[in-house]
Amino acid sequence: LASKEVKKEASIVRISDTLAIGGKELVVMAGPCSVENEEQIIESAIAVKAAGAQMLRGGAFKPRTSPYSFQGLEEEGLKLLAKARETTGLPFVTEVIDPDSVDLVASYSDMLQIGARNSQNFALLKKVGQIDKPILLKRGMSMTIQEFLMSAEYIMSEGNQSVILCERGIRTFETATRNTLDLSAIPVLKSKTHLPIVIDPSHGTGNYHYIAPMSFAAVAAGADGLIIEVHPDPEKASSDGPQSLKPKKFQALMGKLRLFAEAA
Ligand code: PEP
Ligand code: MN
Repeated sequence: LASKEVKKEASIVRISDTLAIGGKELVVMAGPCSVENEEQIIESAIAVKAAGAQMLRGGAFKPRTSPYSFQGLEEEGLKLLAKARETTGLPFVTEVIDPDSVDLVASYSDMLQIGARNSQNFALLKKVGQIDKPILLKRGMSMTIQEFLMSAEYIMSEGNQSVILCERGIRTFETATRNTLDLSAIPVLKSKTHLPIVIDPSHGTGNYHYIAPMSFAAVAAGADGLIIEVHPDPEKASSDGPQSLKPKKFQALMGKLRLFAEAA
């Protein structure tokens, strides 16, 4: 179902009445890794909107490597995201980590994210395949492109065709970056599937210094969107501070990004 052989024209995934991913317009989603409190998420939402982002991101259910790390505010986080949407008008994407909370997360959010660690959680993929909300499917950190597309099939074969693929870096021998952002996945996926492709340069590099150049490269390579971590005070972030941009830096990036998007 994801294959270009089945459907030649590029898919456009609708997020709201006024926003879609996969069309001419580059869509930027931005916000903190985790929702931490009301002030933090509202401030982030206002800042990313002012910079030109069309969507807010923020995790309420966090799939942390260590069980002792901050696990997210859960439903309280979803409520705060809804409040940020009310304040700014920005639709939001947030992660769902288990089949039992899919209906809850879907009742609040505009798009559900399946994280890298759950990219082959087939029970979860089938469950989000049964709902009527767009799904941002992240590539697993050791996943081949073929396996990635098969995970998309798990969702689509249950009925939900609104799938957006997200490359967020894969694990290689290189340790200078947190992951190796596989930008070749853009043209490779474009040759195989009609689904839109979003790049996550934050998790892809793990270092805020590298976000801007990789964002420009992603747009030049044909990405349909970007998902970027932005935090008002990265040093104090509950998760992923080192790879989060301050609002000012994000604004500068957005200004330059427009030039690349126009050229691409
Ligand atoms: C995230 O978006 O904060 C996240 C946990 O991403 P990934 O699943 O790509 O690691
Ligand atoms: Mn994160």
